[in-house]
Amino acid sequence: MNLGKIIIITAPSGSGKTTLVKRLLQSCPQLGFSISACTRSPRPNEKDGIDYYFFTELQFKQKIEENAFVEWEMVYTGKFYGTLRSEMQRIWDNHQHPLVDIDVKGALALHKVFPSNSLTIFIKAPSLDVLRERLQKRNTETPQSIEERLQKATYELSFADQFDKIVINDNLELAVENLHSIILSFLSET
Ligand code: ADP
Ligand code: 5GP
Repeated sequence: MNLGKIIIITAPSGSGKTTLVKRLLQSCPQLGFSISACTRSPRPNEKDGIDYYFFTELQFKQKIEENAFVEWEMVYTGKFYGTLRSEMQRIWDNHQHPLVDIDVKGALALHKVFPSNSLTIFIKAPSLDVLRERLQKRNTETPQSIEERLQKATYELSFADQFDKIVINDNLELAVENLHSIILSFLSET
């Protein structure tokens, strides 16, 4: 395996991770989005091989048997998500660095596999009240699902100190700039 570098990003739902990842991919051509495999159904706007590799549970379990994943997790009950070794290699072969969007446990597991060539970044909203407001404004969640996400966020926030960098997403432009400079500095290290 060609060991290039890896950028691993985690955030509680609603913190702005998707927004920030999209901005980073536009402004940093050195980064390639790592497409995870998962067993949930595609959402109406999602495409196989672009947003995720959508596998059946049987296909996913076969890949586990083949040791095809660098890490995998059951992120939600009965729903599996994993990072494929072949995906890391595809991006390195393309002379880019994988940008991995992954949950807290997956992020820490991936960092253990690649301790010297990966950077872990935790994105935080300025407060739980702001997080609630963003989830409400996004208009994608039921009140019950917002409460679930806020509870999960409190749990996830307890892992933030185990990450190499914490970025507060208050002012969006400042957060993009901050992330950009953290990543460029890591990529320039030898
Ligand atoms: P995540 O991917 O972490 O769940 P999103 O990127 O979907 O989060 O962001 C959640 C909501 O907050 C979206 O409606 C997004 O437009 C908004 N948002 C993201 N960053 C900011 C910010 N810095 N200030 C205000 N609103 C933001
Ligand atoms: P969603 O279903 O909303 O796209 O993603 C649900 C969660 O799964 C998010 O927290 C996302 O970061 C996480 N996730 C996506 N891909 C992977 C992966 O390959 N491995 C792990 N462990 N988590 C992932």
